[in-house]
Amino acid sequence: MKPPTITPGMRKDERRHRRELCLVGAWLYERRFVVATEGNFSLRIAPHRVLASPAGANKGLLNARDLVVTDLDGRRLRGRSGPSSELPMHLEIYRQRPDVRAICHAHPPVATGFAVAGLPLDKALLAECVLDLGCIPVAPYATPGTRELGETLRPFVAKYNAILLANHGVVTFGPDLLTAFFRMETTEQIARVTLVTHLIGRQTLLTKADVECLLASRLPPRSGRANPSTRTRTGAPAREEEDPSRDRRELDLRLSAALRDLHDRR
Ligand SMILES: [Zn+2]
Repeated sequence: MKPPTITPGMRKDERRHRRELCLVGAWLYERRFVVATEGNFSLRIAPHRVLASPAGANKGLLNARDLVVTDLDGRRLRGRSGPSSELPMHLEIYRQRPDVRAICHAHPPVATGFAVAGLPLDKALLAECVLDLGCIPVAPYATPGTRELGETLRPFVAKYNAILLANHGVVTFGPDLLTAFFRMETTEQIARVTLVTHLIGRQTLLTKADVECLLASRLPPRSGRANPSTRTRTGAPAREEEDPSRDRRELDLRLSAALRDLHDRR
């Protein structure tokens, strides 16, 4: 299939995407979800184009020019250095999930602890986490930076938006960069809460009725009820599609505010 031409308009968008990716790199580093040169993230900027973090760089100190554009086979199209060696994992997700536009991979310490222990985060402890992510499974170990890493993820990509990578870390994805990042934060949060309940020695799980009640309160008024054919793995109905242009505006506003805050603090 012939790749689409990059138009001048898309280049302008690409500059904004580069700034947003650098901001997410700073957030991941500030929260200690990555240290040294760990982690990688990417954004699908056109049907066959991916803008990705470079190999071997500290993600908190990235410059917009450091990012790399590749095609869906991982061939570098623009950029001074090569893309992350873990790009094949991203490409596997993009190929399987046309709805996914952004991917974050990091090593947040508590969630990574669960990945090392081989324990999925699959308890209904926090309603918001259950609704957004459902279960968070553990994919089998594969050597980081190899194609095998993408292959071990393959059975999980269609069903989940956050996956623990055994003896490695976490990968999260979504329809935009902010959602992919939030899912990384949420995964670490549910791991922390799960750990604390283990330390306390007690877990009170949400009941199915609790989850359904919360879900009903969040359904848009016009829809009334969920389509039972779109139930998620946890039994909760999937959220209805929202107006993508509204999501985009909200994302733009939140990222602009965050960029201003970051700039003010420097
Ligand atoms: Zn990694």
